[in-house]
Amino acid sequence: MCLPVSLPATLPNYNKWKRGICLKRFLVLLLAFVVVVFALPLLVLKGCEKEEAKVKEFEDVGTININVFDTAKGELREMNLEEYVIGVLAGEMPSAFHIEALKAQALAARTYTLMKAKAFGGKGCDKHPEADVCTDFAHCQAFEDPKSITYNYDKYKQAVLGTKGEVIVYEDRLIQAVFHSTSGGKTENSEEVWTNKVPYLRSVASEFEEASPKLMTGTNVKVNDFIAAMKKLDSGVQLSSKNIKNQIKILDRSEGGRITKLSVGGKVLSGSAVRGALGLNSSNFTISYNGDTMKFTVLGNGHGVGLSQYGADGMAQNGSEYNEIIKHYYQGVEIMKIDELVKVWSSSSFNAAN
Ligand SMILES: [Zn+2]
Repeated sequence: MCLPVSLPATLPNYNKWKRGICLKRFLVLLLAFVVVVFALPLLVLKGCEKEEAKVKEFEDVGTININVFDTAKGELREMNLEEYVIGVLAGEMPSAFHIEALKAQALAARTYTLMKAKAFGGKGCDKHPEADVCTDFAHCQAFEDPKSITYNYDKYKQAVLGTKGEVIVYEDRLIQAVFHSTSGGKTENSEEVWTNKVPYLRSVASEFEEASPKLMTGTNVKVNDFIAAMKKLDSGVQLSSKNIKNQIKILDRSEGGRITKLSVGGKVLSGSAVRGALGLNSSNFTISYNGDTMKFTVLGNGHGVGLSQYGADGMAQNGSEYNEIIKHYYQGVEIMKIDELVKVWSSSSFNAAN
């Protein structure tokens, strides 16, 4: 029913006026009906076509498919390798980064993925035995579904397809292409952070990290909170809030500057354990004391081994190409096409046991 909001001034014209309003409202309703019945489905279809077009782009870029366990959806997905790498790139690096840094990250992601892929001799994701990799960033690699990337999708695609099928190898084997956010000026030797000495994971200068918001950070911790955190870490720690400064001694640092060992209240703790207990960005820190507060000044963000993401972006901004970035952060490596590598593997001169 069409009821006027207020009566018109001249009553004789009221019925004509009411009919006019009703006709207008009828036309508006008709238009709304047309939009809902015809135009909306077209828009939805257009969205689907867009998604399908995105998927189609990857059908002819290679035949390698991998099994990805999508932790957000709780399902196993078979994906084209290059399409998966786009998702990892979007999950691991901001699109604002230089294209050459994005290409370097794409290579690291593709190499890491194939190292894990069962078809390439990898062990797969040990959390999801049926998958090569999972999308849990804390376990395998971060991932954003390529179909839902709306911002700068083309830039990610350009980085991935610009390095299509390329991997990083050391002595004809895929490398452990580990990476971190910001080294703090120098990357780390693998054995000083983990246990194994890996020939290509050496400490190198990472000069151009100024753009990283985590290059240097400060964290204040109350002395009593510090004592509680250290006792939780090791119940044998003996600390008193009086003169805390004299009860802490840094014993050793890695080549990249991270604390490997420190003495806290008579116990020797690892820098990474203290970092974890206090939630610091890295174990490269110094401590200053002010009354009941300790200030931790921290350099870098992450474990510091392999490629520094902000360092890669800095190198790219200063004119380096992705292959130069890769060869800087992974010493002595080569970049190869997957099919070339497979040919080497199947040649009689290749000793798989080495
Ligand atoms: Zn996993």
